[in-house]
Amino acid sequence: MPRVPVRLMLAPFFGLAFVFAEARGRDDAPRRNLVLFLVDDLGWQDCSVPHHSASTPFNERYRTPHLERLAAEGVVFTQAYASAPVCTPTRTSIMTGRSPAANDITYWILHGDQDTSAKHPMVRAPEWNIRGLQEEDSTLPRILSDAGYVTIHAGKAHLGARGTSGADPHHLGFAVNIAGHAAGGPGSFYGAHDFSAAWRGGGNVWDVPGLEEYHGRDVFLTEAIAERALAELDDPVTTGTPFFLHFAPYAVHAPIMANRRYLDSYAELDEREASYATMIETVDAALGALLAKLSALGVLEETAIIFTSDNGGLSAHARGGEKHSHNAPLRSGKGSAYEGGVRVPFVTRIPGVTRAGTRSDVPVISHDLFPTLLALADVDVPDDHDVEGVDLMPAFGGGPLEDERDLYWHMPHFWGVHGPGIEPYSAVRSGDWKLLWFHPDRRLELYDLATDVGESRDVAAKEPEVVKRLTESLSKWLARTDAGLSIDVETGDPVALPRR
Ligand code: CA
Repeated sequence: MPRVPVRLMLAPFFGLAFVFAEARGRDDAPRRNLVLFLVDDLGWQDCSVPHHSASTPFNERYRTPHLERLAAEGVVFTQAYASAPVCTPTRTSIMTGRSPAANDITYWILHGDQDTSAKHPMVRAPEWNIRGLQEEDSTLPRILSDAGYVTIHAGKAHLGARGTSGADPHHLGFAVNIAGHAAGGPGSFYGAHDFSAAWRGGGNVWDVPGLEEYHGRDVFLTEAIAERALAELDDPVTTGTPFFLHFAPYAVHAPIMANRRYLDSYAELDEREASYATMIETVDAALGALLAKLSALGVLEETAIIFTSDNGGLSAHARGGEKHSHNAPLRSGKGSAYEGGVRVPFVTRIPGVTRAGTRSDVPVISHDLFPTLLALADVDVPDDHDVEGVDLMPAFGGGPLEDERDLYWHMPHFWGVHGPGIEPYSAVRSGDWKLLWFHPDRRLELYDLATDVGESRDVAAKEPEVVKRLTESLSKWLARTDAGLSIDVETGDPVALPRR
């Protein structure tokens, strides 16, 4: 009788899936570790790696040498987008691979029984999932965990609301939770403040949980989270278990607070902008510590790293200088429908996949990370899990995606602060065209991003055929995702897309 491996003899009892899972572990190189480095509110220009056609004054201002290294050894995506212009909808889209509209999580969450949408005089928000992700939901970390990965969350979660199961990342598939809960901002970035908002008279809802060992110490929140996160890598590497690290520092979200260690480098800036620059440099130092740790553990070449942000840079308030200018050459910032609200840095280094020094202008979006990270882990998307994002693997080599597709946004909520494009809206990008539909007055605007990245020349009146095509594309997608539309406060009816 020929020798048959035991696992093949057992195959009829355990099914083919068992055989393939075993074979993968036995024959291939070690399974790839995954790091998603998700910075909060980091704008498209908030680093020293150029994401525009040439280096900009902001690229000159900020210091991110470790991100420069990542870019030199990997791929920079110059047209990467967040799934939404604010935190929770993007973060939950990464976790599910679906757009905020499809998840019905279209705005940021806090309390499980409160809608955080600001009041707008003309429209109000439709019903939406104000609880966020819950323990029964199928999520990226749970699927990876089921496939044998050690899943580590470090930093800001903001995935499920306070008073619900999803507030705790443990309930969403993370085996380890460092400092994550329902709140989208920290009380303070200072250990000396116990990371609490008490110093500014804020509520304890913003107190960062689980970092008591750093209380009263001269440590910046990003540094504490990095130290704890990197310590969690020892065990999986020692035992040969692949890990998924979701490194999500609360920075560079408000409150904007200086890390005094870096302040001397930014003497030419006003106090607020200098503080902001030190927050960015601290995030970069955490990236540097991560790269050094992976090298020391001998797994840097077995680890895929993706660095990006959850929405555009804050510019409507709380910043120094002129409002709505901090993402230039893009228009507006966080909370806005314009590019400043959603275009984000995206740098990735994946040994054996990415080519050093590549730049890609393929448009990509946050919810692509779900199928992409599963593909990098060689784990199948479960059959019953609907996904909108696409696997970015072809683009990592510098080529196009398998199929061109339109990208969509939908946020039927008012952010509260005023500024360009900060309105309830839906939008579609098709090729270089971007159509915006603002819900309060049903206004349509069309921009050619190839020649007008700053969205300063609305060409809707000149290009009726393009408007018609994109309106149809947007309309079909809104129906397909069963998107909840803004409600006209006068009529009580959902707003309707203009027919062309
Ligand atoms: Ca954010």
